[in-house]
Amino acid sequence: MTRLTMKFGGTSVGSPEAIQQVVAIVQDHLSKGDDVVVVVSAMSGVTDMLLKSANAAVSADKWTYMSINEDMREKHYEVINRLMQPSDDRDAILNEVDALLTAHMELCEAINILSEATARILDSIVSFGERLSSRVIAAVMRQQGINAQQYDSSNYIVTDAGYQDAEPLWEMTESRIAGNILPDVQSGITPIITGFIGSTPDGAITTLGRGGSDFSAAIMAAYVESDELIIWTDVDGVMTTDPRIDKRARVLPYVSYTEIGELAFYGAKVLHPKTVQPIINRDIPMRVRNTFNPSHEGTLIGAEMQPTDTVIKAVTSIKNVSMLTVSGKGMLGVPGIAGRTFSASAGAGANILMISQSSSEQSFCFTVVDPVADKVKNAVEQELEREIYQQDVDSVDILSDIVIITVVGAGMRGTPGVAGRVFSLLGEHRINVLAIAQGSSECSISFIIGEHDLKQAVAELHTLAIETVENSLANGHKA
Ligand code: ADP
Ligand code: ASP
Ligand code: MG
Repeated sequence: MTRLTMKFGGTSVGSPEAIQQVVAIVQDHLSKGDDVVVVVSAMSGVTDMLLKSANAAVSADKWTYMSINEDMREKHYEVINRLMQPSDDRDAILNEVDALLTAHMELCEAINILSEATARILDSIVSFGERLSSRVIAAVMRQQGINAQQYDSSNYIVTDAGYQDAEPLWEMTESRIAGNILPDVQSGITPIITGFIGSTPDGAITTLGRGGSDFSAAIMAAYVESDELIIWTDVDGVMTTDPRIDKRARVLPYVSYTEIGELAFYGAKVLHPKTVQPIINRDIPMRVRNTFNPSHEGTLIGAEMQPTDTVIKAVTSIKNVSMLTVSGKGMLGVPGIAGRTFSASAGAGANILMISQSSSEQSFCFTVVDPVADKVKNAVEQELEREIYQQDVDSVDILSDIVIITVVGAGMRGTPGVAGRVFSLLGEHRINVLAIAQGSSECSISFIIGEHDLKQAVAELHTLAIETVENSLANGHKA
């Protein structure tokens, strides 16, 4: 018997047809005697709709949040009415949906009165997406003969109060999942659990960040003692690049935990960057598979690094970032400038995506997302006020309209010339590289270019990644 934790993303639960497909996949595994633990996202588009309703409520736009509430009712009713026979169970789930939608309206009314939605309130608002989808899916499954039971992860995943991007408190989370959900699984229940949400020890709802249901599923997989984690999504697996950017993208049959960590951190939306954290030390293999093409094996993700001769396996990009440069002739003599700069940035709420230093130690630069860039610049200038006054440091420069491109592949450490190959290729195409950094895992190289060069740079480097996949497949390797 195998115990599988499966996560179904927004598109995979986005319509009655998709949900019926989810039921078929779960039923297939149950009929083989597997235990299945299911984690679900909100129906596609619903999290965005909920955020929009909160923004509308802040500006007293009652018409907008009421019509969003109605649209959500229609979306969930359609699933129930199409997939469930008239019955007491169907009436009960329709009532549950109504009750949640009433609670959503009440929260919007409260925001309207206060004209303000804090991060804490926004987390409560977006939690309705997963609370609705999980209940509807559990009801549909029950009527189709699965012993499914709905669980709100806010009762099990305990987090800090970092609203909108909360960190799990691991010990409490483990004891709640292992103490409550695991025994239910062992007694033959198929849990249908909300992704994305947790709560603080005193019960306030939090979320794990956008796309966080992948992370929720990995947390569940770890503590219900799963043999495997399967992330069911809308593409065949982890690909050489985002298929929406380059249609030539190919599925990678295998990537390591470390490689997927870099890919996700540097913009591959297919997985939340923290997904591997809970399973990496437990050595639980993970697969990314396509709900709409279940005969495809997808991508296997595991501990073993499998370097390939041609090294570069995938290319990612992050748009809407700004690079801040701290420079000055007097920096050499002043210790701790970098440390103080990064503390000040963290204090301004910035997550630093990339750091690069020139060898002369007369400047270094770092990259943050656009919305926080001005705030970070001000915070750093304030921190270095004395050095700037003494002209040891010049003012902090901001460069916008840039992108971070990252190439990923195990074996960059041991293979000379990979960086050379990447940068000569860019040079040949007259693409100007503004800064370079190598990831600490030594399986990625990131660099910054102007946004206008994005498409061409990705296309050129992607050609190298496609070659890697094709060579490995030709040599009979996993990739
Ligand atoms: P879900 O709702 O199932 O969580 P997401 O939209 O969050 O799905 O992630 C899947 C999407 O990620 C794909 O549709 C694809 O466009 C995008 N994507 C970006 N980079 C990659 C990549 N390297 N491999 C596969 N998909 C990628
Ligand atoms: N529903 C959430 C989002 O859209 C979480 C997820 O789907 O992973 O971000
Ligand atoms: Mg996702």
